[in-house]
Amino acid sequence: MENVCKFYGEFQALKDISLVIPPGKVTCLIGPSGSGKSTLLRCINFLEEYDRGGIWIDDRLIGYESVGGRRMGGRALREMRRDIGMVFQQFNLWPHMTALQNVAEGLERVKGIPRARAHEIAAEALAKVGLGDKTGNHPSRLSGGQQQRVAIARAVAMQPRIMLFDEPTSALDPELVGEVLGVMKQLAAEGMTMVVVTHEMGFAAHVADRVVFMERGELVAQGSPAEIFQNP
Ligand code: ADP
Ligand code: ADP
Repeated sequence: MENVCKFYGEFQALKDISLVIPPGKVTCLIGPSGSGKSTLLRCINFLEEYDRGGIWIDDRLIGYESVGGRRMGGRALREMRRDIGMVFQQFNLWPHMTALQNVAEGLERVKGIPRARAHEIAAEALAKVGLGDKTGNHPSRLSGGQQQRVAIARAVAMQPRIMLFDEPTSALDPELVGEVLGVMKQLAAEGMTMVVVTHEMGFAAHVADRVVFMERGELVAQGSPAEIFQNP
């Protein structure tokens, strides 16, 4: 990202953010509530429009065309979003579908994968997050941690290039946080490119390759966990 600015009316939520997200690494965004972390994350997949600057994935601009100020078309946006998996604080699972159907749905609808094959891929993804025996459960029959692991499986099954996590453990009871962080740690070990907004300082300190600290819409520090967490 280069010099990204974002306004909500008069209020500037992002101030000239320039940042390189290294591929195959975990970048944690930390900072006080209201500092712009979630806004920044949402700009990456264009859930939020930014007002100035640019965001690129490889050499593809996310947002406005660099020449002529033309808006990215709906089709280009959909194609780009296919490459970006997102996991939110709320799990956003379909209540009327089983875990397997929740994961398979996007594969069928977005990727056009035939149902039988989509179910195979979904079953593999659920096994990977430790839910191989819960594929037939509806969300109401899963714990919060299990629901969030289904949400992660759903995103990962699409084989995204990048995974964005927006406070994925904040809605969980403390005893369920570890199982979700564990799955994220496993993804990191597999070389997934991840950007994680989190208040879990232990995760940022031990799992992140890079830590980015934000305050009042500004990027105030970035570096390795050792650099960020050592007190000056
Ligand atoms: P963080 O994720 O660090 O808690 P956010 O990105 O959610 O911060 O919010 C950054 C700032 O922008 C906050 O002051 C918040 O109140 C404001 N903000 C976020 N979303 C909106 C919105 N849709 N409209 C107006 N202000 C918003
Ligand atoms: P803190 O409580 O200071 O956040 P912990 O010592 O509890 O840190 O954990 C350090 C870090 O180790 C966690 O934040 C996370 O990165 C990792 N971790 C903790 N529990 C688990 C787990 N069950 N599976 C995988 N990683 C974990």
